[in-house]
Amino acid sequence: MEEEQPLKIYFIPFLAAGHMIPHCDIARLFASRGHHVTILTTPANSQIIRNSIPHHPNFAVHTVHFPSQEVGLPDGLESLSTVTDMVNLYKVYQATTMLRDPIEDFVGNHPPDCIVGDFMFPWVDDLANKLRIPRFAFNGFCLFTLCAIESLKAHPIPLDASPPFLLHGLPHPVTLKTAPPTNIKEVLDAMIEIELRSNGLIVNNFAELDGEEYIQYYERTTGHKAWHLGPACLLHRTVEEKAQRGQKSVLSAHKCMSWLDSKKQNSVVYICFGSLCYFPDNQLYEIACAVEASGCEFVWVVPEKKGKENEEEEEKQKWLPKGFEERNSKKGMIIRGWAPQVLILEHPAVGAFVTHCGWNSTVEAVSAGVPMITWPVHGEQFYNEKLVSDVRGIGVEVGADEWGTVGFGEREKLVGREDIERALRRLMDGGDEAQEIRGRTKEFGKKARVAVQEGGSSYNNLTALIDELKRLRCCKTTP
Ligand code: UDP
Repeated sequence: MEEEQPLKIYFIPFLAAGHMIPHCDIARLFASRGHHVTILTTPANSQIIRNSIPHHPNFAVHTVHFPSQEVGLPDGLESLSTVTDMVNLYKVYQATTMLRDPIEDFVGNHPPDCIVGDFMFPWVDDLANKLRIPRFAFNGFCLFTLCAIESLKAHPIPLDASPPFLLHGLPHPVTLKTAPPTNIKEVLDAMIEIELRSNGLIVNNFAELDGEEYIQYYERTTGHKAWHLGPACLLHRTVEEKAQRGQKSVLSAHKCMSWLDSKKQNSVVYICFGSLCYFPDNQLYEIACAVEASGCEFVWVVPEKKGKENEEEEEKQKWLPKGFEERNSKKGMIIRGWAPQVLILEHPAVGAFVTHCGWNSTVEAVSAGVPMITWPVHGEQFYNEKLVSDVRGIGVEVGADEWGTVGFGEREKLVGREDIERALRRLMDGGDEAQEIRGRTKEFGKKARVAVQEGGSSYNNLTALIDELKRLRCCKTTP
């Protein structure tokens, strides 16, 4: 019986932690329903996946050559999340465009029933068409953000307009403080154009957070179907799994948890800007001053800049006010490198999250019921911020209005310590506004957990998508 045969699905994640982590989690959802999934990726990334994802008989990784030598990269740098300068960023990107041939060879020789490809690999569309295989797209965005992008496509911001810029036609009156840089907008629009040719879009969110009104807006304006299957982070059950997401943490889950255990409920602010953002020292300095002035307890993740390991200790610390760590040794913890983010967010002591609004971080915070202080930096983060602050009321804005093209390098504008401190106090002072925001976030957290359980919206969407894939397979085999 063709109907009963497990599906064979290939997943092709883009090479950056923020794409790889949810893409593999989505693949695991299909494996958990008895279907055979294979992740197609490069050697260093397959090592990370094997170290962070527990063995499952239906979950495989197929490795293709990464052209380090061809583009002039040292061995092992195979992800945008492993570089901190423009030259290497471009080289990794260039290398990703060269994965097409080896992946096409493999897929052509072992064709699956379906391919799920990241939208940063637009050539997956040609490949799927050539082999007459259904293709579903994944871009790691929430659907609200795609609606905002569609709105700007239909109603571009006039060149002579000044902020705030209204996003016309959306179900809510949403305005942007700043417009997307033209180059980013053009690249995104072009990739989304190709994504819309796929059989459907997989979204790492739950329908209740995007909202029925945005699902309808998307389907009406694009004619494309979106499948909400998330939040995929809720798939992780054990402490070990949560601690190892994406990379090995620089400190043990035990150490982190026992420090948080010693703190009161909702008393700690967690500060982390994802896997691609490296603020300049003067911005880190402002954060340190604000945190100290607010009196909040904190866990602050500051990624290590590659190539700076040999700097003098003094030089390394110039982003911290003198004596900061000694004064705050009980109040705060600075994690230099990769942190066990999902574990931290789930701890009851964590009362707010200062976030760059990367979609994974955002949906992880919502899943844990933690309200956000939104500080978008680049990419689509400025749209995500609007869903959190204006549309769902589950966070407050810090006031960032410099839409960068990448997450590192010098920035023209600093977010000042007064603005940061004000936002921290708004969520951490226990006042009426903070209580309301916290209450709404906790409600969405509950809805997220219900969505992924049997009978929940995401659970049912996965069942329906699997049925759709089986139907497409049947159409292909029936003459
Ligand atoms: N992350 C983590 N530890 C860190 C930094 C990031 O576990 O120290 C994870 C985080 O939980 C999320 C992902 O990395 O799953 C970052 O994705 P996001 O979309 O938030 O931001 P990006 O890195 O793509 O900008």
